[in-house]
Parts: sequence; C-alpha cells; structure tokens
Amino acid sequence: MGARLTSLRDLPAAIASLTGDAGDRATRLYEVTVATAHTEPPPELAPWLVTTFGSEGAVRDQTVIRVTNRTTLDSTLFAPLRAQRPIDGSSGAASLADLIAETEGDPFCDPEAGTPANAFGRVRGSRMISGANAAAADIHHAVLVFESHDPLAFDAELVADLLTTGRAWADAARAWDPTAANYLLIWNCLWRAGGSIVHGHAQVLLGAGAHYARLERMRRDAAAYRGEHGSELLDDLIAVHRDLELTIEGRDGVTVLAHLTPTKEREAIVIGPAGMDERDPAFAEGVASTLIALRDRIGVRSFNLALWRPPLDESPDWRWLRPMARIVDRGDLASRPSDIGAMELFATPIVGADPFELAAALRGA
Ligand SMILES: [Zn+2]
Repeated sequence: MGARLTSLRDLPAAIASLTGDAGDRATRLYEVTVATAHTEPPPELAPWLVTTFGSEGAVRDQTVIRVTNRTTLDSTLFAPLRAQRPIDGSSGAASLADLIAETEGDPFCDPEAGTPANAFGRVRGSRMISGANAAAADIHHAVLVFESHDPLAFDAELVADLLTTGRAWADAARAWDPTAANYLLIWNCLWRAGGSIVHGHAQVLLGAGAHYARLERMRRDAAAYRGEHGSELLDDLIAVHRDLELTIEGRDGVTVLAHLTPTKEREAIVIGPAGMDERDPAFAEGVASTLIALRDRIGVRSFNLALWRPPLDESPDWRWLRPMARIVDRGDLASRPSDIGAMELFATPIVGADPFELAAALRGA
C-alpha cells in the first residue's frame, strides 16, 4: 500500500490494491459497495440546502458506502450527509457543565447511603466503590460509583482502577456464587448513552449459563470462520484493519481499531493479545488513551463502552477471545432526536463518521 488513506471513498480501491494473503483476507472478510443516491431539489429548496449541507450539489448526488463483515454480518451504511443533517429541538444554551453541576447531590454522591450493597458486600477501588444495582438486570449486577460526580472527569488512573475494581467485584460475586462466570463491564456515559444517573459510574454484571448474546454470537461466527478458512476471525479482523491503516498500535500487542463496520458513530475497539488479562496495564492504557482522545480531540461527551472477555471459568470454548473494549460515540447531548431508529434496531445501522478520520484523530494527526 502507498500513502495513508484519508477517506472511506477510497476503500474499494485500497482493498483491490492489497495483494497475496492481505488481499485474500480482506475480500473474504469484507464486502464493500459504493452507490450514488440522486435527488432533484426544487429551486425553492436551494438556499436551505446550501446553508445546511454546504451546496446543492452535495444533496443532488450523494455517495452511500455499505461495508459488511461477511462472517458476522455486522454491516454499516455510511451516509456522510447524515452527519450534517439538521436537528430540530436542541435543548438550547445551558452548558453541559451547568447541567452536570445541577445534579450534584444525587444518590451516587453518597454511594453507601444511596445504593444497596450486594449480598457479599461492597468492593472498594482507589477511585470508586460498588453498590448493588437497585434494578437488577441479571443475578449479579452492580454499579461502580466513581468518586467524582462529573462523569467526564476521568483519567488514565480511573480507567485502570475501573478495570481492576470491576474484576475484583466479579471475583467476589463468583466466590459467593460459583455457578456464575459470565463477566461483563459496561459504561453508559450520560443520557444519550442510556445513563439514568449523571454521576460518573459504570456497571458490572456476572451471569450464569450462556454468555451475553452478542458474545455468543461472535463465538459461533468465529467457529464457523475457523471451520471454513482455517484461521482466527479476530486475528484476521485486526490484520485487515492494520493493512488498511485503521489501527493505532499500543504497548505489548494492544491495538486500537477504527472499526470498519461500526455499530454507531466512531466505534473504536481496543483489543489485547490472546491470553492478556483486561487488568494488564497495557490494556488499561489502550482503553484510557482511546477514551481521552475521543473526549479531548473529538469532543465526545456521551459514549457506550463494553468490555468483552472470556467467562471467568476459563472454558476452552472461549480461548479464541481476546480482551476487547468496544466504544461508540452517542452524539450531541443537546439534540432531542435519538441517534438510534428503526434502521439500527431492525435493519442496518446508518453512520455519518468516517473510520479513516477516526483513526487519524485517535493517532493525534
Ligand atoms: Zn453525584
């Protein structure tokens, strides 16, 4: 490959230019289609189109790029103009800092009075404490309440403490109930991301039986891929992103991908080598630097994060899975329409942001 790509529009040509194993890998894993949507705007609409989208031509002919992972059927419709779609009903001038400050004194400001404890007690980290989730979503479910009310006041030390304290909670829950092994850590930051309480917090779950459905889905897909192609799905997923310069390389084999089939805007996946523990400082550093870059370089204020790792019982069915933190941007906190509609729920997600631009921003370029 030659110069670094800057746009998704170049993706078909970039894949076509990959040779040998790299070319085989990219074409067996991904299907890319580029289509043009044509519209005929009436003259009366022209001024509004220019103001909203920059030009009438941008609306007259638009490029829609669909990328599909042939194995997982993760698929994304990239519609660049969607990023500039006008939004009605934004909530006005109140600054986010004021909105966050207004909620001070919430139940999480005094977590030992404001949350129940789990049956096995509370787990304390250096910057957080656990409480049982008052509305449990699984047999073991807790909130990890951060010391700071402001959910955006995180740093690398807090992220490392989150991964360590989350695991300490899961180990305590498992000691109490050895039938449960499916550990999941999630972080819904602010209301666009489904966070019902503003105060900084994440959640941890420990379930029994089958792992959470999306992980089981990937286990099935990885087994099918292994059977059909004789190679590991995650290895190939990383290799294709690396060949297309959509990765940022961290320490000790930790890699960050700007995902080619993002679930929603700007999906980044932090992924460690097989066998790495999610508490490893190199993994924690990868997660922290990605979150901090999203917040400080791109202006992300509301995001979802999920930690994927094998069940804690070390079942051989899960040896293929590497520690992964999947992160998506949930958009403008002042906008009233949800970023998720029928396409995302029942069809193919529509995304405006370009993964090549995300990779450049995460690199600090
Ligand atoms: Zn608070």
